[in-house]
Amino acid sequence: MASERQPAGRRLLPRLAALVADPAGADNEPLMAHVLLEEASRARASDIHIDPSPEQWRLRLRIDGRVIDGLELDVGTGLQLVNQFKVLAQLDPMPSHGAHDSSFSWFLDDEDEEGISLRVTAVHCVAGEKLAIRFLAPPMTFEDPLSLGIGEEGARGIRRWMDATGGMLLVAGPTGAGKTTTLYTLLNQLRLTDSHVVTLEDPVEYAIPGINQIQVDTANGLDFASGTRSMLRLDPDYMLIGEIRDAGSASAAVSVASSGRSLMGTLHSRDAVGVVSMLRQLGLEDADISATLGLVIAQRLVRRLCEHCRERQPTPAQDAQWLEAVGVEVPEYAWVPVGCEHCDDLGYRERIGVFEIWQPTPEDHALLLRHADDAALRRNLLERGETLMFADGLAKAEAGITSLREVFRMGAILPG
Ligand SMILES: [Zn+2]
Repeated sequence: MASERQPAGRRLLPRLAALVADPAGADNEPLMAHVLLEEASRARASDIHIDPSPEQWRLRLRIDGRVIDGLELDVGTGLQLVNQFKVLAQLDPMPSHGAHDSSFSWFLDDEDEEGISLRVTAVHCVAGEKLAIRFLAPPMTFEDPLSLGIGEEGARGIRRWMDATGGMLLVAGPTGAGKTTTLYTLLNQLRLTDSHVVTLEDPVEYAIPGINQIQVDTANGLDFASGTRSMLRLDPDYMLIGEIRDAGSASAAVSVASSGRSLMGTLHSRDAVGVVSMLRQLGLEDADISATLGLVIAQRLVRRLCEHCRERQPTPAQDAQWLEAVGVEVPEYAWVPVGCEHCDDLGYRERIGVFEIWQPTPEDHALLLRHADDAALRRNLLERGETLMFADGLAKAEAGITSLREVFRMGAILPG
């Protein structure tokens, strides 16, 4: 089984490892920072961490949401690498107190016209200066909800919401759960229709062709409330307001959804029914929530098992214990990661969403109006036989799409 404790450096960063081991032996002495960016980008890393320590510096990569050990560097090499990045990002080369960041574009080669945007953050830690380098890539989008990992039933729910007029579609989950990818995938679908879509975002991070995007600008009086009024005058069919995180954006969302427009937004919540208590906390009345809540998509991301090397083995003891503890029957065999050249020996490659789709029924609306709490709403969903996030994760593990360990790690609310 692939162990994440083992430095994966030789597979992930072979050229950098060779360069660090024998600086004089490399052709034309390429800059370590450039070699690192090339190899990290090939390995699909989203972040690079260069961590100082008095003896050995650590170089780590975040790949598919997980931090993977890359290389260990001696102090001199670590300092040299930090300096190279600070020069590239035009940061003050002197070690500084506090935190500083700066962005720059990096071009893979002469044919790379667009380049990759990177943000370098330097923070003074006790052991020295730590550097975090982030690849500022636009969110990934997919052709359709099925490619995100949403099942047929969920995709039908989304189509029903798209065909209806008015109401809110909320994508719920913690940070890093893939909510933006889901929303942008839905926007892409809407772009193909003849409907008029407007977004109000804070900030607009990525331009989407064919969609009118407005940026919140509180300094100039364009907040969620006034922005929403302007958006409504543009006569949209669908509106997206990004993250609903305060009373202003929550009441803006309700005013749009109750005016016969369809509204999309994201919300921090552990599961689908959790959006109700969140919206209550943001000051919405039960009647408003019940009248406007059209569809909730709660999600997490899990890593996909590499299809080239995954193996079906007797269920690992640790997974069996966990399943028993939560009252789930332990299967005799389970898919586990192995590691091969296709997945840089990690056993996993890319991620997929695990979902819970809640389309409130008349019964749910009645419960909402009676101020039912999350537990009562969840019970109702279970009694109806809806697939909750945990069950969707187990089904994906059973199908070999992901492993039981990944399902365990996603932190879904457990059944019962
Ligand atoms: Zn593999």
